[in-house]
Amino acid sequence: MSTTIIGFPRIGHHRELKFATEHYWKHEIDQKALLKVGRQLRKTHWLAQKKAGIDLIPVGDFSFYDNLLDVANVLNIVPSRYKQLKLSKLDEYFAQAQGYQSNQGNVRALPLKKWFNTNYHYIVPEFSDETNIKLVGDKLFNEVDEAKALGINPKAVIIGPYTILKLGRFVDGKQPVDFVKPLIEAYSKVLDRLNQQNVSWLQIDEPALSFDVDSEDHQLFDKLYDGILRRKGNVKVVLQNYFGDIRDVYTDVIKKPFDGIGLDLVEGDENIHLIQQHGFPSDKVLFAGVVNGRNVWRNNYDQTIELLRSLNVKSPVVLNTSTSLLFVPYTAEDEDEVAPDVRQHLAFAIQKLNELHELDHVLQDDDEGKRALAANEKLFHDVKHPYRPAVHHRINQLQPQDYIRKPERSEREKIQKKTFDLPILPTTTIGSFPQTKDVRANRHKFNQGKITKEEYDQFNRNKIKRIIKWQEDVGLDVLVHGEYERNDMVEYFGDNLDGFAFTKNGWVQSYGTRGVKPPIIWGDVQRTHPITVASSVYANSLTDHYVKGMITGPVTIFNWSFSREDIPQKEVVTQISLALRDEVLDLEKHGIKIIQIDEPALREGLPLRKSDWYVKYLNWAVPAFRLVHSGVKPTTQIHTHMCYSRFGDILDAIDDLDADVISFEASRGDFTLINELAENHFQTEMGPGVYDIHSPRIPSEEEVQDLITKLVHKLPVKKLWVNPDCGLKTRTEKQAFESLKNIVEATKRVRKEL
Ligand code: GLN
Ligand code: ZN
Repeated sequence: MSTTIIGFPRIGHHRELKFATEHYWKHEIDQKALLKVGRQLRKTHWLAQKKAGIDLIPVGDFSFYDNLLDVANVLNIVPSRYKQLKLSKLDEYFAQAQGYQSNQGNVRALPLKKWFNTNYHYIVPEFSDETNIKLVGDKLFNEVDEAKALGINPKAVIIGPYTILKLGRFVDGKQPVDFVKPLIEAYSKVLDRLNQQNVSWLQIDEPALSFDVDSEDHQLFDKLYDGILRRKGNVKVVLQNYFGDIRDVYTDVIKKPFDGIGLDLVEGDENIHLIQQHGFPSDKVLFAGVVNGRNVWRNNYDQTIELLRSLNVKSPVVLNTSTSLLFVPYTAEDEDEVAPDVRQHLAFAIQKLNELHELDHVLQDDDEGKRALAANEKLFHDVKHPYRPAVHHRINQLQPQDYIRKPERSEREKIQKKTFDLPILPTTTIGSFPQTKDVRANRHKFNQGKITKEEYDQFNRNKIKRIIKWQEDVGLDVLVHGEYERNDMVEYFGDNLDGFAFTKNGWVQSYGTRGVKPPIIWGDVQRTHPITVASSVYANSLTDHYVKGMITGPVTIFNWSFSREDIPQKEVVTQISLALRDEVLDLEKHGIKIIQIDEPALREGLPLRKSDWYVKYLNWAVPAFRLVHSGVKPTTQIHTHMCYSRFGDILDAIDDLDADVISFEASRGDFTLINELAENHFQTEMGPGVYDIHSPRIPSEEEVQDLITKLVHKLPVKKLWVNPDCGLKTRTEKQAFESLKNIVEATKRVRKEL
């Protein structure tokens, strides 16, 4: 048996790639220096894999920004507006990722989108009339040479043509089939080159097979691979899937001349059934994805061995990760502040390499394997997740009616209209105000122990006071306290709840040079003290306006954390919901009449296959949200917020959250969702964002007025709110203040015209 991985994180142990790239963008280092950092990182990562005993080492998984953008550039899928800038190759590449602005030209970036159901984002390739696909880039071949020079046995990796076509954006009336021929030609050339380089394996990634594949897609897939596999030569090709299973094409794929098939056996339980039911061809290698690439826990060797046995395959098996290791941090060795009993269960990228190596020995049943298995069995035998009986007791007591808010929404709407007596088109914001330098400096000083808790809080109270006054002066209707006390909307709650652990260096790439440090859920989640009450109550005491309480929802906290796996997801989320429910009731008890529960990550958790949407996700995610707010009085108004507008296909589920008001993005002039809301008689009151907070632009009064007028024509005016797209924390105060002033004035004008 042998071992491999699908890909390795490239940001570097200490985020070297992030810092070098950002220095390069600021012209602090030159191209040569940046390329050198890239080379150095590749070397370090390959040697780490070699040292861990990985047999087939992926080459080509490195990227300065995004792998899909890399392939698009290698295949000449680069819109001419970028080429016309006449930049160096690397700068042309960054221009596509980031946009470009100088006296040489002004071009917007290509869109950025979530990579399947992960929190990683890819750059969307654009196919148009002018797209002329051909192999023009040497990135992969250069890296192969580089690896060979270091004594590495490379497995070349590239994203496959089917996935590129499924994720691309097509303009000028173009369609995926229009590009089949040149793609076959280009991938055949890739194979020719790898043959010349004597590469033994090429891994072609086709995660898009984890989506539903209809007959048209299936034909597309067949055409592509029937063409490409003809030119394999001596290079062996493994079709690599992840993030799910390949149920729609399995029986077909096993008949094609692939030399290996890589399957995710962690998320893709269906793959296990497919193999058991249809068998696995003895002339192919099974790349068995048994080590989880998306979570941070140690592998349970007994379970993995059992799983592999149950497949009953006679063909050779390569032990593999379930996905690229891009989704986990670099090494758990740094995490000396995590409690030892938790830490010993952590496996980040480096530890996972070692697990593959150990599993290989366990399967060989040699001395090293015996020792490793014994240690692993002991680890899992002794595992203790902090158990909080009160939490389990509460969950056991839950009744169906605990998930239902009374009276029904239409009734509440009437009651609330009367009690709140807000003007038509009430104006509000999404919660955070700019996190200016002084706000961050104050937090930093507190974390360093340079100021007391009282001094820290007093600073934030002053900020609240100032921003409440500012909102009153500008004439906003429903105010917020500004969220100055929060570093991050998930971390802040994790910090204040039992059951979470935090890493020092657990960075994971989110997009480009941006990283996130997801909290880890290890124990039962429980609230021991009020979290947001003090700041909300203080803000509320300063004004006659309503001040919105502000919390992060259970599904978002769950989706943006690394969660324990010993109990079902549904149970972890229910624990979070109960903790937040107490917070909501506490806010209500202390006089907060409007409470917003943010769920920006609700949509991203949707399974890739439509048939799984409800059964595997929404059927517990929606009730989890309802459990948080179902206990409030009819006169308490519940808001929710989603940053995006791509929920047109789950409108029923969104209405089913049973919030009173929802705010979301709408300022980019795309009325798709607005039309869908109108056609479907969406019930929840709505605040479509009229200000794009992701841009430094300040929208003019006229522009906002125009947008609100359009919205008023499409949607019932009594259900409409006016607000920005999202929180203001990343904007400057000047940008945020001017924009909000324009929003309030624009709203006043529209009201007059009604
Ligand atoms: N209330 C949060 C804020 O205003 C919401 C952030 C988000 O949706 N990502 O910052
Ligand atoms: Zn948002």
